[in-house]
Amino acid sequence: MKRFIAENLEILIGVGLALFAAWRVAKHRSRDRVAKRLLRKVAEMGAEPLSLHPDIDPVKCAGCAACTAVCPEGDILQLVDHKAVLVGPTKCVGHGECERACPMGAITLVFGTKTRGVDIPRLTTHYETNVPGLYIAGELGGMGLIRNAVRQGVTSATHALSTPVEGAADYDLLIVGAGPAGIAASLVAIAQKRKYLVLEQNSFGGTVYNYPRQKIVMSHPAELPIVGMMKFAKNKVSKEELLSFWVGLKKRLDIQIREKTKFEGLEKNGSHFRVATSHGIVTAHRVVLAMGLRGSPRKLGLENEDLPKVTYSLRDPLQYRGVNVCVVGGGNAGVEAAVALGEERLGNKVTLLVRGAELDRCNEDNQRRVEKVRDAGLVQMWFHSSVTKIEPQTLKVKRENTEVTVENDFLFIFAGAEMPQKFLMGLGIVIDKKFGEAFRKTN
Ligand SMILES: Cc1cc2nc3c(=O)[nH]c(=O)nc-3n(C[C@H](O)[C@H](O)[C@H](O)COP(=O)(O)OP(=O)(O)OC[C@H]3O[C@@H](n4cnc5c(N)ncnc54)[C@H](O)[C@@H]3O)c2cc1C
Repeated sequence: MKRFIAENLEILIGVGLALFAAWRVAKHRSRDRVAKRLLRKVAEMGAEPLSLHPDIDPVKCAGCAACTAVCPEGDILQLVDHKAVLVGPTKCVGHGECERACPMGAITLVFGTKTRGVDIPRLTTHYETNVPGLYIAGELGGMGLIRNAVRQGVTSATHALSTPVEGAADYDLLIVGAGPAGIAASLVAIAQKRKYLVLEQNSFGGTVYNYPRQKIVMSHPAELPIVGMMKFAKNKVSKEELLSFWVGLKKRLDIQIREKTKFEGLEKNGSHFRVATSHGIVTAHRVVLAMGLRGSPRKLGLENEDLPKVTYSLRDPLQYRGVNVCVVGGGNAGVEAAVALGEERLGNKVTLLVRGAELDRCNEDNQRRVEKVRDAGLVQMWFHSSVTKIEPQTLKVKRENTEVTVENDFLFIFAGAEMPQKFLMGLGIVIDKKFGEAFRKTN
């Protein structure tokens, strides 16, 4: 045998390499077929990205697949005929890892598409609005995710505090909102030993505070002033751990915050802003609005939507036991809520209502989790379904083409959030409709 190998070594190596190459080609073809199938489906369904997403220049794309491997949401970009394409547009939440990974500079993050405009406040690269000295950071500017909010909070506050000011004001910087963007902005002011104040209408922590109990938060590392890199094991952390990290910072750095104080409006008064709050007027040279979007959840627009049983967030699933629950929305928030409410020990009857034909708006982890509880009989999933009428004890649901009445004690609606356009325009901020335009060119 040894002699045979020695005598035929070159041939054997050649055969081995040929087999390896054939295997690579077969694997590539099979991936290509799957990607083409997904792309066809996207075209048939007319699916469009819901938020910030990659736009790929096919001329620059070298087909290296660097972008396809890095997306935390799963198979959203794939190679088709050696070019990267968006095969999961509705699942994209704008992490931007693909843009950073592309060695050819072929990817640009854009808002909206040629056919679907998205309303976005006009911002400079430092997140300053068209009103000089007034900034928008975080989700209110149209870009979700904790890491993005942290980055924008840092960039906006750093710029705000770097420009010269005249005259006197109560604060150098007023920050509205104590979510990730507002907290990051406050750390910039602390690091620079400047006079600042954070206004928060509810509680410290922002939207994270309202996540369901024990929710796993996915976040890539983000860099905070003073603290350095904010890293969590495997980029996953529970809501409670993340909040306790924020609260630890608040105590250690004595973050100046007025909770239960609502920002109501502002006007420019010479060199500074006069800011109206629910507890009186304050003045500040610069203002960062880091208010997020969760104060304006998208509603169904139905009668009785103001009944106490209807809600747009879920903080404590353990409050709901032995009740009939409907969750509207097949995105990550809706799916996570359905899974949490469907926990066996709670004994709830949970129905997840999804408008489309499948779960194409949540990430793969969430899809697996909800399918597992569905298979265990803990959550029902109804596709092509929407609520048509809300009554105190029941709901009317259009399912496929029939209308059914279901017993209902609580209705959770996770249909996204709306830009508070009127409010922003009332502050003098210009809102643009973006049709596939680059995020960073919004000057
Ligand atoms: C259910 C759910 C799950 C999510 N999961 C993840 C995840 O796993 N990973 C991830 O990266 N992102 C996730 N996100 C998105 C992420 O939470 C947001 O992108 C992020 O919190 C935005 O930060 P922000 O600072 O811009 O705003 P927010 O966190 O929304 O904070 C804004 C703050 O401003 C306050 N505020 C609003 N209006 C006023 C006013 N008039 N006066 C005073 N205060 C005001 C609000 O009370 C709030 O505390 C999730 C979102 C939801 C809803």
